Amino acid sequence: MKPTLCAWLLIGMVGSLLIGCSPLAVLSTQQPQAPVKTESNGAGPAAPSPLTSATPSTPSASSAAMSPATPSLPPSPQPAEAASPPVLADRKVTLMAVGDIMVHQEQLEAAWDVRKKAYDFAPFFAKVAPLLKSADLAIGNLETTLAGSDLRFTGYPEFNSPESLAAALKQAGFTAVTTANNHSLDRRETGVLRTIAHLDQAGLAHTGTFRSAGERERPLILEKNGIKLGVLAYTYGTNGIPIPQGKPYLVNLIQPALIKQDIAKARALGADLVAVALHFGSEYQRMPNESQKKIADVTIQAGADLILGAHPHVLQPYEWRTVTLPDGSKRTGFVAYSLGNFISAQRRDYKDVGGILKLTLHKRQDGQTVVESPEIIPTYVHYVRKAGKRHYVIYPLPQTLQANQKDPLLNGDTYRYMQRLYKEISVHVASLQSKKKTG
Ligand SMILES: [Zn+2]
Repeated sequence: MKPTLCAWLLIGMVGSLLIGCSPLAVLSTQQPQAPVKTESNGAGPAAPSPLTSATPSTPSASSAAMSPATPSLPPSPQPAEAASPPVLADRKVTLMAVGDIMVHQEQLEAAWDVRKKAYDFAPFFAKVAPLLKSADLAIGNLETTLAGSDLRFTGYPEFNSPESLAAALKQAGFTAVTTANNHSLDRRETGVLRTIAHLDQAGLAHTGTFRSAGERERPLILEKNGIKLGVLAYTYGTNGIPIPQGKPYLVNLIQPALIKQDIAKARALGADLVAVALHFGSEYQRMPNESQKKIADVTIQAGADLILGAHPHVLQPYEWRTVTLPDGSKRTGFVAYSLGNFISAQRRDYKDVGGILKLTLHKRQDGQTVVESPEIIPTYVHYVRKAGKRHYVIYPLPQTLQANQKDPLLNGDTYRYMQRLYKEISVHVASLQSKKKTG
């Protein structure tokens, strides 16, 4: 076949496929690239630029290559023969992800509403809800069970929280939660099953724990603006509580072969990108350990585009990592090693600090979907005792510091502390990238 004829056939194919087509089909056509729009970093009262990650090395050759952060790809010249190619819409989705969503004993007290005689978690999220709602998709790690009051609500060490937490998360703007973590089995199998039922009732998507082998075989795919994001979740373990015999589907463990197989399934279901939530690392360590880096690399090799880490309960830096595939080609993935505690009653030593990872999923006109413009919006869990009652409120630091009006819950000292935290955390989360840049 002559190249020109081939090109026209392929252009026709792409044109007729448009939405809902397999990204692989689009990519295999080698359609001439239309100019790609570069974009600014985030809308609204966003964090200043130091939060943006540095540029990674070459994007991978695989179907869903990762792209560098800002600056985005430069416009590529139009080949002469593609005089009137069909224009594929340039699609974008904003994704936000947070770390551990925990409910310690003190928070149970704080959430108890005497008048309503019910647990109301909405105040925890009131200040971050507008931000989360501004995203197309928002994901967090639910590090507790919602196993019902008959199994007693408790905080550490074996968590069980009121199911109204699920509705509060949904209301706050979350799309999905991951449930594979070391506390998944805190109320054993019953807890897993009831947690899932309560999440379903609240209309929150979930992945990481499952009711059956069949359910586990269907990866979670979140779809928005014609972009499909596969979401998978795995944990290093379950605090020594054994997974019931013959029921490995209850909790996803970090097993490279399983992860690889699940990523392939998500791709087969049309996922343009795959995010893998990994519950791993050493608690209270502010830098990722070697094991995390190794697992991240293996997960990118298995086809992940994005790794959402949690468990250390403190924020760890993020970075782009490039791995070599068996065929010698390179593949780059974005790794957030630990997003810290989003909400918890843990105080000090950065345990009351978390981060909202914000990034853009961009389906370009050439059909490739890439991850762009990652940034971390630092958050701080403010704790105050007022009128004999505990209050926990998550504050997004840049938005709080830039707001015109003072928040009545915060005094001058707290503002100054937040200012200090914000500066320090912004440098910390980008420290792996800046090291790479200079060294
Ligand atoms: Zn954990």
